[in-house]
Parts: sequence; C-alpha cells; structure tokens
Amino acid sequence: MTVNVPYGYVKDPENPKHWLIDPEAAQVVRRIFQMCMEGRGPQQIANQLKADKVLTPTAYKKQQGRSTPHPNPENHNGWCDSSVVNILERREYTGCTVNFKTYTNSIWDKKQRETPIEKQAVFLDTHERIIEDDVFEKVQVIRQQRHRMTRTGRSSIFSGLVYCADCGSKMQYGSSNNGNFAQDFFDCSLHKKHREKCGGHFIRVKVLEQLVLKHMQMVMGYILRHEDYFRTAMEQQMKLESAEKLQIIRKQLSRDEKRITELKRLFIKIYEDNASGRLSDERFDMLSQSYEAEQKQLEAEVIALRQDIEVQERQNENIEKFIQKAHKYVGIETLDPYALRELV
Ligand SMILES: [Zn+2]
Repeated sequence: MTVNVPYGYVKDPENPKHWLIDPEAAQVVRRIFQMCMEGRGPQQIANQLKADKVLTPTAYKKQQGRSTPHPNPENHNGWCDSSVVNILERREYTGCTVNFKTYTNSIWDKKQRETPIEKQAVFLDTHERIIEDDVFEKVQVIRQQRHRMTRTGRSSIFSGLVYCADCGSKMQYGSSNNGNFAQDFFDCSLHKKHREKCGGHFIRVKVLEQLVLKHMQMVMGYILRHEDYFRTAMEQQMKLESAEKLQIIRKQLSRDEKRITELKRLFIKIYEDNASGRLSDERFDMLSQSYEAEQKQLEAEVIALRQDIEVQERQNENIEKFIQKAHKYVGIETLDPYALRELV
C-alpha cells in the first residue's frame, strides 16, 4: 500500500486512507502532463519549471509543513528530469489506486522489481482524478518514443508518429542544411540503412501537415454532422470485439472462483482429519501451505480478471470522449502539438 501520498494530493483529514486534491500542486501536475503532450521531454519540462520558480515536490511539502522522508533540498526550484518522469508515470493521477507496485521474486531475492502493469491490482475511482485516462495513456506512449533531433537541432511535432506504409518501420525526421524549413521531410529508416529491404518512402513535413489537418477536419466534421449514427456504429463495432473477450474472461473467472471454493472445502477437511488423528501434523502443515499458496494466487488472478471486465465494459466511455473531442476541435485551422497528440 502506498504510504506517501503522491504530489498533487493530501490526506483527507476525515479519513487518512482517502486522498483529496491539493489544488496548487495538482495544477503543476496538470501542467507537466500538458507540456509532455506538447512534445517536450522531461529535461525540457524540468528546465521550464526551474525557470518559473516552481517549488519541487519535496520543497513544497516542507513549505506546507507536511512530513517527507527527504531532507530539504538546497535548491527549492531544482527540478530534475527523474522527478518529472516519476509524475508522468503515476497512474494514481487518473483517480485509481495501484497496488503490488513492486514485488520480490522469492523470499531469497531481496531486489524489488517493477510489477508488469497487467499484474498490478488497480482499483478505479478511489479518489478524484487530476488527469484524464486518455491523456495519461497518450503520455505513456509518448514516453516510449525517443525524440530524434536533426543536426540542426530541430525536431518535428510528428516525430515518433510516422510509419512507412510498405515496411512499417518508423520514418525519420530530416532537414536540409540550408536552413529552409519548407524542405523538412520524413523518410523510411529501414530504407536508409538497407536500401534493398524497402523501396523507401519520403514525404515533406509541409505536405504531411496539410494532409493530417485536412483529415482531422473531415473526421470531426463527419462526427458532428452524423453524431448519432457514428455513436451507434462504433458501439456496435466495439460490442462485437469485446463480447468475445468478455466471454473468455468470464469463463476463467468462474473456473477460478470454483477452485477457490473447493480449496476452502479441502482445507476444512484436512483440518478435521488432523483433529481426529487421521492426518499427521506434518502432512497437515504441508497440505495447508500448498492450499493456501494456490488460493492466494487465484485470488490475485480474480482481482485482475474483474479489472479486465471493467475495462471492456468501459469501452463506450471512450466513444463518448472521442465525440467530445470532435466538439472541442471543430473548426481546427492549425495543427499544434497538443491537438496532434490528443487526436492521433
Ligand atoms: Zn519502408
């Protein structure tokens, strides 16, 4: 369980297990996510916060008179990229509680390891959210893309988003030496390395920008004109996809629950056998330990399966959110990095 409340929240005085939003810090958290969506890297974000004299999480906590395990930093505005990354990766900002964040492989392995997300227990809506789910997910994707700058030190808002139509490789940003922005382009990274493996694709950034913007205007316009039809068609499509997944998950869930009941029954039986002398203490210890281990594992699996079901059932919310975006971006005339990340 999380002992330290993440930056952006405070303990609820009525119930210390419940978190409330700390408006001042939450605003900084939102700003950090926003800057990432705009295509800025952790170091750039940290520099900006430093320049704006924003207190670091530790300095802020000290100022507010809250306890923190860290000593008061010498530089109160000394943001570093790792604290920015920490914030960008905290799922708790979407209003959920994440347990089993780290685990040890066995009792002999004292090294803590990150639990893969599918093995983490996530409890939704345990506190008020600071960040929307889709923004959080986008930021995780952005975090995995490495930004490539050209020799001239320029980068493109499309970096990491463009793929070759033939071979599926990432397309790389390039610019010409003469400093003419209009010449900036993307070309296939595989073609660059092995000319025989891919014929090569090339597109000017200027052209890409126009095409993407035109496509966005078309899609948004379509959704707004045919909102009800779009909603029904998408719901139908998602229902088909998730019905299959749900069936598999529910089957596994009922198998697990059945086995848990059986294990409880078995435990009572060996307990009685042991009490009546039919089962030795040694055998009882051995059996009860193995039953207990199996039950624990199954119970963790049941929690994970229930979450999968919840995710599937929430699909319709995603359609609603996309429609809301269509309203937000109606009449979009220029592409900015935030819009690009939000819509693509
Ligand atoms: Zn290619």
